[in-house]
Amino acid sequence: MKLKNILLFLLLITINVSANEKFDKIINKAEYFENIDTNLAKLPKLNIRIENCYSFPYFHINEIQTKGNVKIYNDFLNGLKTANKCFSNSRSHNEIKIKYNELLTILLNNQEKILKCIIPQSNSVYAVASVRPGHKKDWVNDFFGLPTHPSILFHTNTIAGNFPLSMSEKDINEKRKEWGTKYKDLQIGPGLRNPDYTKIQNTSALVFHEMFHWPENFHNDKKSLDIVKLSEFCCFDNPGHSQNFRDAACNMLYDKKAWQPDLYKRLKYIKENKIFKKFKEINKHFDD
Ligand SMILES: [Zn+2]
Repeated sequence: MKLKNILLFLLLITINVSANEKFDKIINKAEYFENIDTNLAKLPKLNIRIENCYSFPYFHINEIQTKGNVKIYNDFLNGLKTANKCFSNSRSHNEIKIKYNELLTILLNNQEKILKCIIPQSNSVYAVASVRPGHKKDWVNDFFGLPTHPSILFHTNTIAGNFPLSMSEKDINEKRKEWGTKYKDLQIGPGLRNPDYTKIQNTSALVFHEMFHWPENFHNDKKSLDIVKLSEFCCFDNPGHSQNFRDAACNMLYDKKAWQPDLYKRLKYIKENKIFKKFKEINKHFDD
């Protein structure tokens, strides 16, 4: 074995061991949950604060919601466990492990991490994750209501697939006209379910997706495949996602050559095998 290979091998073992140790530590530390019945719940040993998530994941205007803290806590844990399984199996490779390890490091450091929920007036995004201050994309941090990094803002009325709260009487009448006899007996109004909107089904996938943005993983990166979406599509179950598309996502996620550190070789391989194009196709499918 050449020296370079030996070093690489040792690095891989180190990353594996430390990822496993970190994961176990996080699960242990997550056992302590404070103020579960309030609007400011805490996981003190991980310095995670859960703000205003009583309506997580699905706000509905006619319901009193109180179970949000427990739900978001379970989604946080289940999302991490699902990803851990997916990233430590035999098909996984170094580049995924490095990225995943960075997330575990953030979760274990002393900095406060904030998961915050709001019920937006108008539906723009399902959720948004903060970016490290000073990063070229740190304009994201100006998103209304998003706390200081590392943080996530969840829009519970949007996640539920509801009509926006800003809906006026005029909007309601227009919708009725537009729909005609479609959904004839359906109640239309702010904060009520709009069957034409997507309701996010797998909310542990959503929580993990957003957290995985923290170590500077972005969508539409021209130099790398989208590790956030590919992990979500490959690792998590979602009703309505076909097995073929899920397999295709896993093939991209686990394709070592598409993640090789040498940028020139990586992009050449991605281009020759039309991988960006293949990604766009599955992304379109998952968005529907
Ligand atoms: Zn995203």
